Amino acid sequence: MTDPALPSVEAAGADLRAFVDASPTSLHAVAEMARRLRDGGFTPLDERDAWSLAPGDARYVVRDGGSLVAFRVGSAPLAEAGARLVGAHTDSPTFKVRPRHDVRRAGYRLVGVEPYGGVQFHTWLDRELTVAGRLAVRGADGEVADHRVVLPGGPLRLPTLAIHLDRGVREGLVLDPQRHLVPVWGPELSTEPGLLEALADAAGVAVGDVVGHDLVLADTQPSAATGSDGTWVAAPRLDNLSSCHAGTAALLAASPAAHTAVLVANDHEEVGSASAEGAAGSFLADVLARLVAATGDHDPQSYLRAVARSRLASSDVAHAVHPNHADRHEPSHAPALGGGPVLKVNANQRYASDALSSGWFAARCADAGVPLQEFVSRADLPCGSTIGPLTATRLGIATVDVGNPVLGMHSCRELASAVDVPLMTAALTACLSLP
Ligand SMILES: [Zn+2]
Repeated sequence: MTDPALPSVEAAGADLRAFVDASPTSLHAVAEMARRLRDGGFTPLDERDAWSLAPGDARYVVRDGGSLVAFRVGSAPLAEAGARLVGAHTDSPTFKVRPRHDVRRAGYRLVGVEPYGGVQFHTWLDRELTVAGRLAVRGADGEVADHRVVLPGGPLRLPTLAIHLDRGVREGLVLDPQRHLVPVWGPELSTEPGLLEALADAAGVAVGDVVGHDLVLADTQPSAATGSDGTWVAAPRLDNLSSCHAGTAALLAASPAAHTAVLVANDHEEVGSASAEGAAGSFLADVLARLVAATGDHDPQSYLRAVARSRLASSDVAHAVHPNHADRHEPSHAPALGGGPVLKVNANQRYASDALSSGWFAARCADAGVPLQEFVSRADLPCGSTIGPLTATRLGIATVDVGNPVLGMHSCRELASAVDVPLMTAALTACLSLP
């Protein structure tokens, strides 16, 4: 049965849109997840401190701003009951601002950027863009701290070249990121402040104290309800903020249990996950090992026993069947927008799902009254991958890959269905609540 406490489709869609709009970057997404967790009684932990944890404790820890692990400690030792985990990633394809980004050309000032991840270039054209991320700021004590920042308004733009000047465009639009995808910021006026000056101003810090930055482009058009019945969600970054949103809601809604409930949200999936806070890094393994020790279990076998008793549902978006390109889907596996969570399977381990992990997720969906769809790639098309196989490889943890269906994956503006939002939240809540 679906939990009657779960929000309506309309409310769930509105909440997803608010989550996405509050999260122009992975750093802002983690801040928004942390805010929601704090509102639900979770308190922060710092990796630099010694941890001491007791059953029922609800805590979260952030690594380098863009990755988060949150958990509710179970009533039984981890070595005896293991953990139930939900995974997601916080980053999305975009463009990263270069160290020397002040470009002047043809009477314009532009901002030098390079692509981050698998950007669908053409979808970023002719949109009101901004710059967001963080500044590293030197304090009076010489320490360096980071400040999240968003440039106000939508002052940047990647203008399309007029068709009159590109007669071959009907045969295919060619966009070289080095030459053609440098956003214009304004006219070349020597009196205007630079980008870092404008961002320091927005962050309320002195530009002379800014010693570094992680900044990316973000679309500024608010997310919208769309479609004939208003149940579709048009928004940027649904890959994979939709899973961060559902995972956070699931952890907040999960029932206390013998096992420990864990949410892990990693940065850097779109660029391969190989970083200190990415899924190929040590973050989750470090937190789980410390969870075992911090609850008073110092047996060297206990961490490995805990992992062997654990299961991970790794949620990342799935390809809904595209009505104008239905032939790109395997005919028997064509997930529909609004049809519920999608189980992702691949013979070559591009997804980690196997009989037992898939069966676990299917059983929890059935418990929650949630329909389950299935996706495989066509045999003649390569299959994408995600954090699930990486986490399974890194930790040796039983993992299933799932996700809500979207159209236009990696577009600057993707499309999902609000119908799927409470369904995925209910499925993940059941995964965290039940054996
Ligand atoms: Zn993704």
